[in-house]
Amino acid sequence: MEFPTRILIGRGVLAKLGDFIEEGGTKKRKAVVAAGTKVHEKVSEVVSSSLNGSVEWVKVTAADIQNVERVMTAARGASCIIGLGGGKSVDVGKLAAFRSALPFFSVPTSASHDGISSPFASIKGLDRPYSVKAKPPVGILADVRVIASAPRRLLSSGCGDLVSKMTAVRDWQLAHDVKGEYYGGYAASLALMSASVVLEGSKKIGEFGMDSVRDIVEALISAGVAAGIAGSSRPCSGAEHLFSHYLDLLAPGVGLHGEKCGIGTIMMSKLHGLDWEGVRSALEHVKAPTTASEMDLKEEQVVEALVKASSIRPERYTILSRNKLNREKALRLAKSTGVF
Ligand SMILES: [Zn+2]
Repeated sequence: MEFPTRILIGRGVLAKLGDFIEEGGTKKRKAVVAAGTKVHEKVSEVVSSSLNGSVEWVKVTAADIQNVERVMTAARGASCIIGLGGGKSVDVGKLAAFRSALPFFSVPTSASHDGISSPFASIKGLDRPYSVKAKPPVGILADVRVIASAPRRLLSSGCGDLVSKMTAVRDWQLAHDVKGEYYGGYAASLALMSASVVLEGSKKIGEFGMDSVRDIVEALISAGVAAGIAGSSRPCSGAEHLFSHYLDLLAPGVGLHGEKCGIGTIMMSKLHGLDWEGVRSALEHVKAPTTASEMDLKEEQVVEALVKASSIRPERYTILSRNKLNREKALRLAKSTGVF
């Protein structure tokens, strides 16, 4: 099991980043910060002054292997790598730190998926369209005020990634029952608890007050930690994620990760015989999309993703391995759950 050793969540904590790093035993001398351009404009001053100016910024333009290599080059002789931003910068920083054997600090400025704490990174340009194993961050610092000021859509997407743990855990159980795969009850419970934050509290969460933002951040961190406990992405990623990854290939740039996972969860819940209507209304309450058209996805793309999702990761047994869908069944599933 691998865990983050320190987690700091609160309003205005970004100014304490330098102390946070040093208190964990890492020197802040020449910290390399991987960050997107917008995030750099927004918070570079407070971050640089917290690190006493001994910082080298690397602007992350995409979550791909070229950006990982740029961060690794900048990090020669550095004491640590900080991933500052949304999904992309955190993923790039995480893999660069893993490959450079340097401590990694995750500093999310939005809460759109569970990569902020998990040992996995989604990087393009590798041999597969899903996440690769790295190491969890040694520290996570989440400034709730900064995260609350990010576009609302990112938080809604984070909720989509959270509800997906419900079907991910069911798929994991299924793989245990059918294939004898290792199943960890504790990691599964932790992931389910993260999903229930949204499923049970969606009305309150949908008001997006400071407390809701904090709940979403904590739930996403716990979900990522569940993956660290399991030593695999199983508790966080099932058929709904395969569906989302397939859409990444089919319709690059359309919709956010958590949005696609949310829609996938509605449909996979129905296949599992779970309360798919409850999933759909929770997503509606948190203003996440529940239909293909809201996401500018063509019906044809959704059908193809449902039919072929399993093929991108055949060893991962899920409900889509058991209930093989042809085009007709896929169409019926999407229609019956209101996705079309
Ligand atoms: Zn996810």
